[in-house]
Amino acid sequence: MSVLIDDITCRELVELVTDYLDGALSPADRERFEAHLQICDACVMYVDQLRSTVTAVGTLSEETLEPAARDELLRAFRDWHHKPPKPPNAPD
Ligand SMILES: [Zn+2]
Repeated sequence: MSVLIDDITCRELVELVTDYLDGALSPADRERFEAHLQICDACVMYVDQLRSTVTAVGTLSEETLEPAARDELLRAFRDWHHKPPKPPNAPD
């Protein structure tokens, strides 16, 4: 497998997921998207959840993704990738 493909980040995946489920991604983007799913269980779960939502409501739009829920997810990804090194009682 090529290692020259630019890996997308979790954030980019979240941005692309609606197009992915719509089949609207370019072949190159879809390849990068699926490559990320190979290495990221969190995004696999996210895509599965979203796919279930699409199946339930029959359509997918930006409105389907509640901004608050998406922010929550992105924050979870950040925390997961970057554990804060400072102690809990460190002053700001
Ligand atoms: Zn990911």
